[in-house]
Amino acid sequence: MKSIAIDDLSSNVHKRLDIIWKLNKRCNFDCSYCPSELHDNFSKWKDIKKYKTVIDKLIKTTNKRIWLTFTGGEPCLYPQFIELVKYCKEKGIYSVVVSSNASKSSDYYIELMKYADNIILSYHFEYQINTLKSIIAIKKSIEKKSMRVNVMMLPEHFEEAKDVIKSLKENNILYIIRRIRPSYLPNSKIVRPNQKGGSLKILDDGPDFSNDENYYSDNELEFFKIGHMSIFKNVLNFIETSDGIKKIEENVNDILARKDNKYKGWLCWSGINNIRIWSDGNVYNAACWNKKIGNIYKDLIITLEKQPHICEKAWCSCASNIKIKKIKDEKYRKYIRKDKN
Ligand code: SF4
Ligand code: SF4
Repeated sequence: MKSIAIDDLSSNVHKRLDIIWKLNKRCNFDCSYCPSELHDNFSKWKDIKKYKTVIDKLIKTTNKRIWLTFTGGEPCLYPQFIELVKYCKEKGIYSVVVSSNASKSSDYYIELMKYADNIILSYHFEYQINTLKSIIAIKKSIEKKSMRVNVMMLPEHFEEAKDVIKSLKENNILYIIRRIRPSYLPNSKIVRPNQKGGSLKILDDGPDFSNDENYYSDNELEFFKIGHMSIFKNVLNFIETSDGIKKIEENVNDILARKDNKYKGWLCWSGINNIRIWSDGNVYNAACWNKKIGNIYKDLIITLEKQPHICEKAWCSCASNIKIKKIKDEKYRKYIRKDKN
């Protein structure tokens, strides 16, 4: 498949600013596939006043509706996290999304969801302890709020993962099947399940997602070819065929699973309607760290990008970045939705 343009399927995408805030690197898990650059078990939290100041600043950044996603590490480990989410809603953040490893009690999540709008729970098979039971209890209690589960397809745990997917389906819980990008040891060997100490492998100018064939078995790799990563479609993919341009609706994780996530040289709209805040406060136009546009703890105001720019990365590695509007060439601009300010 030869993709020539991508557009985000979310409604009102031009009227909103998507912010993904990595609140801290601190996490209570140490998943084998999570690079040391992305998590630890010791980073210090900031005072809640500091975090609240950031919220006030983000609100001043834009007139658009803010969709704020808290991620980590594990944001729910922050002792005053529920208070912080409550503050976001009091201050008018349109939608607060929390991405969590599901390690808190179901009672905790039910309390959190009194304020948050959407929760994304990830199922990590090296650490799951009553995770499914807890997820089902949360779903029953937050019927009117959005929830989805990312099932991390750990090698050697496929059958277990398939059982989890079956239960999620039976309980009407939205799920996304995630192909894992493994981390690497200093000797360049892939970190196998339950091994520790890996880090990102940098290929030219992006994380390597191209050399993981030995991570999954052939049978497991077959599973990713079916194109069923989620019933939830979030991206419009325009494909050039001998019969003309075809558009297909799919989930970004299908693109990732096929390894079609290469957009070097394309025109990309990252930084206009979406920003990424790193745990040190640095603000980037996307998770590819393409361009630093400020620091939320140091700068008085963050100025958003106004124009699309050429992608220079070998891989568009993050699911949230893949769905950002992009075109292979100016001649394909007519296929994507126009900007509205
Ligand atoms: S739960 Fe998430 S942040 Fe924590 S170690 Fe696992 S993948 Fe990394
Ligand atoms: S890697 Fe960054 S610049 Fe390139 S397509 Fe993805 S979001 Fe856009």
